[in-house]
This record gives sequence, C-alpha cells and structure tokens, in this order.
Amino acid sequence: MLRITDILDKTQSYLTAEELEMIKKAYIYSATVHQGQVRLSGEPYLTHPMEVAGILADMKMDAATIISGLLHDTVEDTLSTAEQVESEFGKDVAFLVNGLTKLSLISFGSQEERQAENFRKMILAMSSDIRILLVRLADRIHNMRTLQYQPPDKRIYIARETIDVYAPLANRLGINWMRTELEDLSFQYLSPEAYNELSMRVVKSNESRNRYTEEVKKIIYTELEKFNIKGEVEGRAKHLYGIYKKMHEQHINFDEVYDLIAFRIILDTDKEKGCYETLSVVHSLWKPVPGRFKDYIAMPKANNYQSLHTTVIGPYGERLEIQIRTRAMHEWAEKGIAAHWRYKEGRAYKDGEENQIKKLREVLEIQQEIKNPKEFMSDLKLALFPEEVYVFTPHGDVKSFPKGATPIDFAYSIHTDVGNQCIGAKVNRNIVPLKYKLQNGDRVEIITQAGHHPSKDWLKNVVTTRAISKIRNWINAEEKKSSITLGRDLLEKEFKRHNLKFSNYVKSDEIKKVFAEHSVTTLDDLISQVGFGRISPRQIVNHYLAKESVSVPEQIKEQVKKKATVSPPLGISLPGIDNVMVKFARCCNPIPGDKISGYISRGRGITVHTQICPHIKKLDADRIVDVEWNLSQKNAYPVHIKAVCDDSKGVLTEVSSVISSFDINISYAEVETTDMIASCNFIIDVNDLHQLNQILSAIRQLKFVKSVERMRQ
Ligand code: MN
Repeated sequence: MLRITDILDKTQSYLTAEELEMIKKAYIYSATVHQGQVRLSGEPYLTHPMEVAGILADMKMDAATIISGLLHDTVEDTLSTAEQVESEFGKDVAFLVNGLTKLSLISFGSQEERQAENFRKMILAMSSDIRILLVRLADRIHNMRTLQYQPPDKRIYIARETIDVYAPLANRLGINWMRTELEDLSFQYLSPEAYNELSMRVVKSNESRNRYTEEVKKIIYTELEKFNIKGEVEGRAKHLYGIYKKMHEQHINFDEVYDLIAFRIILDTDKEKGCYETLSVVHSLWKPVPGRFKDYIAMPKANNYQSLHTTVIGPYGERLEIQIRTRAMHEWAEKGIAAHWRYKEGRAYKDGEENQIKKLREVLEIQQEIKNPKEFMSDLKLALFPEEVYVFTPHGDVKSFPKGATPIDFAYSIHTDVGNQCIGAKVNRNIVPLKYKLQNGDRVEIITQAGHHPSKDWLKNVVTTRAISKIRNWINAEEKKSSITLGRDLLEKEFKRHNLKFSNYVKSDEIKKVFAEHSVTTLDDLISQVGFGRISPRQIVNHYLAKESVSVPEQIKEQVKKKATVSPPLGISLPGIDNVMVKFARCCNPIPGDKISGYISRGRGITVHTQICPHIKKLDADRIVDVEWNLSQKNAYPVHIKAVCDDSKGVLTEVSSVISSFDINISYAEVETTDMIASCNFIIDVNDLHQLNQILSAIRQLKFVKSVERMRQ
C-alpha cells in the first residue's frame, strides 16, 4: 500500500514545504473521515484516494490537484461536507472537490454508441477546471486496476463506460499512457478470451522479440552516431488493445501484425529539423514502405501530438515502424495536457506558467484552423469557455443545449407534443419551475397534461430555435384559427353589402386569381389575412365587381328580360275583355304607375308597353287597346337603374344601402369604372313608379352621384 511518505517523496522536488504540509493535512483528514470504510477488495478505503493521489503526483500535478485526489470521495461518501473542505483546505481545493462530487453522481447509462460522444462532452463541460478531469481520470485508472473485486455485471458496465468515455477523453488530453492502460484494462473485461489469447501470443514471442529489439536498436544507434545525432532509441510492444483493434480494422491475424514493436527515436535536440535529418538517415538505412510516411510535425494530430512516423523494410525483410520526435514532443505524447497545464492557488500565474497558458491558447488556435469539431481541442475549449449544457433524459441519454436552456427547450427536443403539453418538470426528482436553467448533469423529466398548450410567455424562457419556432407555430396556428372566423365574418358582410353571396364566389375558379393577387395559396390563408387585417374585405369584393363589369350591359339585359318573361307580374286589366294572355314588353318593362297601352299580337295575346315606349309608336295603331293597372295586391317588378358616380371607393355600397333602406330587393348589382367615373347598374324589384321615383331621388341625394336614371331600351 502506498504511504503518505511515498507521495511526499514524489512531490517534494517541485512543491513548497507549505504545500507538502497541506498534503499531509489532507491525508490525515481523508484517513479520519474514511475511517472504518473498506473497499470490495477488503483493503481500507483510504488506499483508493492514496493511489489516486500517487498517480497525480507521478504526473507532477500541483498541490491542489493532489489534495483533491486525496479528498475526492469524502463529500460524496462520508460525513464530510463541502463547507468543511473549504474551511480546511481553501476555495481552490473546495472547487475541485465539488466538481468531482458532481462528476461522481453521473454515470453513462445509455448503451448507444452515438450517445458516448455527448456524454464525453458533458464530462468535459462539467470539468470547468481541467484538473477536475485529470483527477477523475486518475480515479478511473485505479478503479480499473482493482476492477476484479466488483461483481461481474458491474465489471462489464464500468469497463464499457471506460472504453467508450474515459479512454477517448484521455486520448483527447493527449495522455497516451492513460489511454493505453484504460483500453487494455477494459479490453481484459469486455473480451476476456481475445485478451487472453493475444497476451499469451505476445508473451510467447517475448524472448525472440527482445533479442530482435536489441538488434534493431543497436543498428539505429550505430547509424545515428555516424551522423553525430544524439538521442535515445526505444523499442516497445504496442498495447494489446491497439494490436486487437488493428487486427479487426485491417482484417488480419496476429502473425500478420508486423509492427508489434514500435521503435521510437527521441532526439536530444529541440529542433524539428533534427527529426527530418534523422528520418533521412533511417530511410538511407532501410527502404521506406511507400505511403506509410506521416508527418505529424507539420500537421499535428488534433490532440497536439507531434512526431514523424515511417514504416521501413527492416533487416529481415520485415516491416518496421519507427517514430521520430524531440524530447518535448515525447513529453507531450506521453503526458499530454498534464505536461503543460499547471495551476496555482488563487489563479496567480508565476513566470513560465504564463507561457504554458499561452501555449495552450496557441494550441486552441491551431485547432480552430483545423476545424475538426469532433476533436479534442474544441471540446476542451468547451470546458474552458462553456457554451453548452449537457443533461440526461430519464432513459440515460445525453442531450446538449445552449447555455440558459430550460425544461421547455428540453420538452420540445423530445417531441412537439411533449413541448406543447408541458406543464412542469422534475430535475433530479425535484419539481422545478419551467423557467429553471438546466445545469450540466441534470436528469430531466417532463410532466405533461393532454390538452394543455403553450403560452406566449414561454418565448421569454426558451433559447433553442426548435422550441422558439414550435411555440410560434402554435401561437400562429391559434391566431390563424380565430382570424379565419373573423375574416369569414367580415367577408360575408362585405359581400352582402353588395348583395353578393361570399360562399358562391369561393367555389369558382376565379378565386385562384384572387389568391395570386394577394400572394396566398389557400382559401383559409386568404380569409385569415382578412381577419388579421392585412387585406381588406373590400379589396376582395372589388375583384369580382371589376371583373363582372366587363360584360355588364348584355347580362343586365338578359336578367331583366328573364325576369319579365319568366314571371310576368299580374295586375293588368283590359276593359271588357277576360281570359286573354297578357305579358309585358321586354323593351320597356312597365311598372305600375307608368301609363300603359296594350298591343294585340296575333296568337300571342296582348303585350303591354309603356305609352312612351318608342316601339309601340311604330306599331299598327288599330291593334292598340287601352289597358289599366288593376292592383289587388303588391307585386315586385324588375327595373334596371343606372347611377353615374364620381369614382370614389365604396359607391356601390353606398348606393346599395340607399336602395336597401326602402326594403327593396336588389337582384343584380355591378360597378363599371372608367376614367374616374363609376357606373353602377342595378336590377331592383319595385312595387310601382312612385316607389321607384322615391328611390331615384334618394340616390340623387348622394353627393358623389352625378345622375341616376331608369334604363329602358
Ligand atoms: Mn474514487
């Protein structure tokens, strides 16, 4: 078991005496609060935080990080409180421990691979300080090293989470040793058979491989010496999961994996030039395999990994992979961000550390140029400058939202209906108001009620475009519904004022032209536009009035004739004659009050004309007889009148309403507009001449009316 003195030994070279004292104090605190707790292995619980702190000490992390390693499980698992930690160890440590406590509460429940990426982002976002993530990874390393004490189903679960979530995170931070260890440990539990077979084979070939490794190293050293290049040559077996993945991805078996050993030349120089010189030395020694050279110095990997990679045909005709890098590049490759990232209490950076921050910034900027959103640095940036929050669905899926999102945003992200019917939300099992701002790691549950609907106020509490547009859609649809009711009402009234029936017009093809005039596609749209007040009902009526004016005179004639012929009003008597067929002349349409005469036509009875009708004057005077009105009852007689008006809008309506005020039926109406003059034609059914004259004089009173007259042929 690791002892506190081991940790102090590891750290005394770079920490102050004060900091070492603080680490000792944290050790005593942790030992006290974890007192009596045991791990599944049977060891005292304290071994775990000690091991985690040891890993962090090996990584040369700062005092606050190592202390947080010692305390990372105290708030979650013991009676210790966040306040205590802060008063004993200060704000910085309390901040880290608090972040770790939050991280320990979330676990990756979803089995879906596509969700893993979101979960990784959630962890990054929750690691608002990169040291939180480093402690979390060290924690996971130790838990994986002791995974055999967990029950079998838990082993699989933890191993899967490790390989899907934590190993990729270590890779993104550039910490190669962590990634390979996490992968190999997970591999061991997830595919035990493949793992065992592979490790047996690797061990079997161990001895000859060692001989081979030494031989190749010697050749390289000799060659480097010739060119006076100083550096170190390593030959190390690839990690098992790396070999396994290669076999799977390239569909090859173990014997076909040539580069089980990766050779590495780590140069003493800091100059990139040295790497390229070394490369040419290697290539002059062994023939390079075409297409296998990779220049990660000119084009670093997304996690800032830099190196030259080449594959050559080695001394036995075998393939040989060689990596060439400077010492600084090697540091990064192994330790990643931990090699460059140091904090101090109070965030006051000492000289040199500012450079490290600058370097990280530079790295961030390089990443922006690369623009690979899936890669590490954009995620890291997220952690440093969080713009998104990540929350769980009740099923353990992870969803991301812009900062400031509320349960309403969440509800709409699930389904429009869930959003529309959302009446409340639970976060981590507690009821929250709908305007609650979601936090990283929240488990969100939406409460819905059928028939419930959104309100305009919601727009103030949502940030996602989806929620905004769905709420607007709903409100618009609602408004449209009521605008259709109103619009239809307005249109019906307006049409009626012109003695037209709106419903007759919507069925005609002509309505399509009206749509086009107003840029709408459906009748509902047209009607709702009227309801919204964007189109006046008059505009629509006018379309029909203007249209019909084109063929008016003919139509008017037809209508009048039809009326006169089809339903001849009675009320005519011929002195001394009975049972004679009587009809009104189509030319003059007599109405009661007109002086009339009858014309005896052969075989067609008597036709009644007005006495002033130009036609009758031309007829045979011998056959003209006197006729009289004999009105025992009121009848309605159609008559065509025409009013000529100044072209001001609404003339037709005004004239119509005057006519209507006499309780007179208008059976036809139209307006014809030319050169600022509007001619209104009506067929009205009057009782007699007296009434007609009353109407005509009433129309004459209208100030825009120039003339009004009864039309005859
Ligand atoms: Mn732990």
